[in-house]
Amino acid sequence: MEQHYEGGCHCGAVQYEVDLDLEKGTIRCNCSLCSKSRAWFAFTPADKFQLKSGDDSLTRYRWTPPNRPQPNLTYYTCSTCGVRTHAGGMDPKGQHMVAVQVATLEGADPDALATSVHYVDGRHDRFDREPEHSDAL
Ligand SMILES: [Zn+2]
Repeated sequence: MEQHYEGGCHCGAVQYEVDLDLEKGTIRCNCSLCSKSRAWFAFTPADKFQLKSGDDSLTRYRWTPPNRPQPNLTYYTCSTCGVRTHAGGMDPKGQHMVAVQVATLEGADPDALATSVHYVDGRHDRFDREPEHSDAL
């Protein structure tokens, strides 16, 4: 069920609202960037995400994964406290979407979060399967 959440970075400069359905699943990826940042994302259409404050505090990061012609996503991080709040880009159907960093949601049900996790093998560009080795989780 879709629910309304507020969220933000640690220092409070960056705050957002988002409508999300955690039952659709959240994503843990093992690509080089997600591994370093311990990323855990919930995806939602871009029009369901609103930045309330902190646009001028955000730094932006883009990188091109191996075998890709261009970056997939733009990652947004608070320049004061260093917490990444979200990323944005296109889904495979060409729709604008936002990937909310789950750890920055306020008040999300821990049980719903725990059962929502899907592991994907982004390190091998295979988002349709889990990694083969658990050390890649
Ligand atoms: Zn901050």
